[in-house]
This record gives sequence, structure tokens and C-alpha cells, in this order.
Amino acid sequence: MSRSFQAIVVGAGPAGSSAALTMARAGLDVALVERGSFPGEKNMFGGVLHRLPSLEKIFPDFWERAPLERHIVKKGVTFMTGDSSFNTTIEAGSFDRPPFNGYTIFRPRFDRWLAEEAVKAGATLITRASVDEVLQSDGQVTGVTILDRKGALKAPVVVAADGVLSFTALKAGLRRPSFDPGQMAVGVKALIDLESDLIDERFGLVREQGFANEFVGCTAGVRGGGFLYTNYDSLSVGLVFHLASLKGSGKTPYDLLNAFLEQPQVAKMVRGGRLQEYSAHLIPEGGYDMIPELYGAGILVAGDAAALCNATGLNLEGINLASQSGVLAGEAAIAAHKARDFSRKGLSIYKSLLDESYVMKDLKSYRRAPQMLHNNRIYNEYPELVCSLMEQLYRIEGTPKENLSKLFLKAARDKVGLKNLAADGFSAWRAL
Ligand SMILES: Cc1cc2nc3c(=O)[nH]c(=O)nc-3n(C[C@H](O)[C@H](O)[C@H](O)COP(=O)(O)OP(=O)(O)OC[C@H]3O[C@@H](n4cnc5c(N)ncnc54)[C@H](O)[C@@H]3O)c2cc1C
Repeated sequence: MSRSFQAIVVGAGPAGSSAALTMARAGLDVALVERGSFPGEKNMFGGVLHRLPSLEKIFPDFWERAPLERHIVKKGVTFMTGDSSFNTTIEAGSFDRPPFNGYTIFRPRFDRWLAEEAVKAGATLITRASVDEVLQSDGQVTGVTILDRKGALKAPVVVAADGVLSFTALKAGLRRPSFDPGQMAVGVKALIDLESDLIDERFGLVREQGFANEFVGCTAGVRGGGFLYTNYDSLSVGLVFHLASLKGSGKTPYDLLNAFLEQPQVAKMVRGGRLQEYSAHLIPEGGYDMIPELYGAGILVAGDAAALCNATGLNLEGINLASQSGVLAGEAAIAAHKARDFSRKGLSIYKSLLDESYVMKDLKSYRRAPQMLHNNRIYNEYPELVCSLMEQLYRIEGTPKENLSKLFLKAARDKVGLKNLAADGFSAWRAL
């Protein structure tokens, strides 16, 4: 039997639940369709939820309501070579006050909570339901079918929020059938249980404060980086690799992750912990140039399905962009209902809303970052340069010291080459 709604959202991740919540609060009859047995069941990510202005508007007490772990007060970057490392850390007072700048979370808890808020607002959540086909009539999307279920779900507008591989966007003809491996990354993560007191002591934290650290030079020559984030009583530790570079290396992500966990600097941080689980997932890292068609007649695309992920090498922002784009897709669907216009033109307001938001503005500002990050020297030579420079600066030999600028020039010439340094500096300047 077919059922009709005013809108259908495919996927109850952050993008989909934010869209459903927005539409349900405006009184639309919305179906939120999720393939898992509950929202977030199999969803994974690194671990840092960046501040969500999209949800703070709806829930001014967001940080008290949502199931969060620790709020991030310290952010660090570690440059590593085999046996040396150099860390930089920012610990800001403003990160330690509400509205906090970011949190660690667990997706199964967070995604489930957000979907439940959409249900409280009036959305109908349909779980264990994999969307199969996209129904179209005269070029207009009119609904979806669910795998192994009879009948169809019908609605004048469908929001495709089914993640990076979005078959909904593909079947609606809004994205190309294959991906460029140069625009994709794969992330692997280990969740390691560790007592909260030990985490506080080891990372200098108190009162549910959290630490987020990124690592460069830890991927055995594969383009990528590492991360370690503190949850309440566990650590999320992992690596992210450019897919093309990983493929070319012939190495496996889990071997590289195990080697990372055994590196002396990381081993000290996870010492005494108990491995709970491994997980892996793809990330659309191509930035602005990877964005597919965002809307068509009767359809909108949000979150990772629309490649709205900002990987700059400094930060990986995905959930905040997914949630914001979901809210904007919801607002566009509400406007289309008011105007009774679900044509491509009627739904083009979504693109205008996105263009005015920080989502598209940030992706445009950092448009050159993905290409810049394809430079192998970032993952090999530069960590060596930084570590060797700092080592020489602090080493006492009992002989006269060279000053910093001379040491820098010598290390730069040895490790990277001055021409490369100038070219890379220019490229980073333009990209960041
Ligand atoms: C290793 C790794 C580390 C990351 N680290 C961070 C980080 O620290 N901070 C950050 O902000 N972002 C991070 N990201 C990115 C972030 O996870 C994504 O950008 C974000 O999850 C996108 O949300 P979404 O709702 O668009 O898609 P998803 O979270 O992928 O949700 C899609 C939903 O759709 C459902 N679904 C899929 N297909 C169907 C179907 N056919 N029918 C019904 N349901 C379907 C899925 O089950 C899922 O619930 C990371 C990603 C990875 C892989």
C-alpha cells in the first residue's frame, strides 16, 4: 500500500534529521526514512561535532539537551617523524564557555537523539527501510520505494540525505555514477576505552573538558593524517587517507592504523586503554569542486550526499555543514509548499539559501585546499623539516649556536628545497 506525505527525507543522519525537524516544526507531514534499525546505528565519524548554530537556534540549551561527551577546550597539531614529534596547542578560555566551540560525540547516541527530536516535532520515522528506487513522473520526483517492501512513499518533495554514496541523488540523475578517487578519502578509527580520571590527568583536562589533536607525518608516506579525540571515558583515535594515494601505496588502512597506535608518541597517549571497536567510512573531500547538482524537480540534496564537507587540513567539518544544509533544505521545502511550486525553479531557493550561508561561503573560501593537500611533501618532508628544526634549536652541543633563520634555511634546503618551499608556501597562502 502506498502512503503519501508532504515531504520524504532519505537518511536519518545529521543532514536528514535536521531537515525533517525543520519541516515537522513548520507543520509539514514528513517521513524520515532510515535503513538502520535506529538512526546512527552504523554511522561513524572521527568524533568532533563542531558548533551547530543550525540547532542552537532551535534548541538554545543545545549543550544541555544533546547527548554530548566532552566540550573541546584544547586543539593541537603534532608533526611526527619516526622518533621525534613537535606539538602546537591552543587552549582558549572562550572554548570553555557555552556556547561551546565543539564537542566529542558518539554517532549512535547523537543521531538517535536528533531523529527523536524530529519525531517529537511530528515527523514519522521509518527504520529498517532502505530506499531503493526514486519515482519520477514527467521528470518530476514524486516519491521513493523501499527495498523488499510493497507500495511506495509519495511526496511532492524528497530530500536526499543518504550520505556520501547517495543512491537517491544518483537515481534522480543529480550526480555522476562514479567518483574521482582524488576527491575521496577513507577514514579508519579505533575506539579505546580509558578511565575518565586517566584521560583528565594525561591530557590536562578537568570538568568534562576535551582535547582534539591532529597528527601529520604518521601515515607512512600515504597522503593523510591522524586524529585523537577524548570522549568522556574513551579515546577516538584514527587515520584519514586520500583514497587515490592509499590505493597507489598497496597498504591497508588497518595495518597503518595499528602502526600509528604503536608509534611511541601515540602509544603513550593510549597506554592502559582497551580496544573496543574498529570502524571505517568514506569522506567526500573534494570540497566546492565536488558538489553535484543540489536540486531538481521535486528533489533536494543535503549533507555528504551533496559533498558538503570542508576538509582544509586544519579541520574536518562535516556534521555542522550537513545539519545546516539539512535545515536549509527543510526551509526550501517549506517555501515550495507555500508557493505550491515543486518544480526545479521552485526549489532553486535551496541553492540561494546555501549560497548565503557559511556552508557555501566556507567551501568557496577553501576551494583550493583539497588540491593543495595533494602535495606529498606535506606528509613526509614538512614534518621532518619541523621536527629537525626544533630538535636542532633545542640541542645543546657545547659549541656556538647558529641563529634560527640560518638553521631554518639549512633545514629547509636539506629537507624540502628552497624552490619547493616557495612554491608550497604560495600554494598554502592561496588555499588557506
Ligand atoms: C573517519 C571520519 C572522520 C570524520 N570526522 C569528522 C569530524 O571529526 N567532525 C565532523 O564534523 N565530521 C567528520 N566526518 C564527516 C561526517 O561524518 C559527515 O560529514 C557527516 O556524517 C555527514 O552527515 P550526513 O547526514 O550527510 O550523512 P551520514 O552521516 O552518512 O548519514 C546518512 C544516513 O543515511 C542512511 N542511509 C544511507 N542510504 C540509505 C538508504 N538507501 N535508505 C535509507 N537510509 C539510508 C544512513 O544509514 C545514515 O543514517 C568524518 C567522517 C569520517 C568517515
